Amino acid sequence: MTSTDSPDCLFCKIVAGDIPADVVASSDTAIAFRDIAPKAPVHVLVVPREHYPDVPAFAASDPEGLAGVVALADGVATELGDGQYRLIFNTGPKAGQTVFHVHAHLLAGGELPGFA
Ligand code: 5GP
Repeated sequence: MTSTDSPDCLFCKIVAGDIPADVVASSDTAIAFRDIAPKAPVHVLVVPREHYPDVPAFAASDPEGLAGVVALADGVATELGDGQYRLIFNTGPKAGQTVFHVHAHLLAGGELPGFA
């Protein structure tokens, strides 16, 4: 499934440029843009251009694409922070996933709270 196959998907619309976003980096296969409700000094969403609902579907279909998302996130973390970061893929509603176009939350730019 490609981004153009999901016309109602918010992140497909951002990828297509139909909804504005603060894009901080991009590659042939992924884009990175600031989260509209940041939870850290640097809070960027990194999404593949192609539409997959979640990370297991993405990894199963396009492992190189997943590696590309990680590489783009790593570059952004170095560019906008100090290269230390947290990368989170919420997977499923109980885990907090609200947008069903796979995305990595890149959190960086300072001391991040622990999970405990
Ligand atoms: P999830 O809850 O699915 O893991 O993450 C979705 C994220 O998308 C949330 O952190 C939310 O703040 C962000 N978000 C929702 N709508 C928009 C939008 O229109 N633009 C941007 N840049 N971020 C959005």
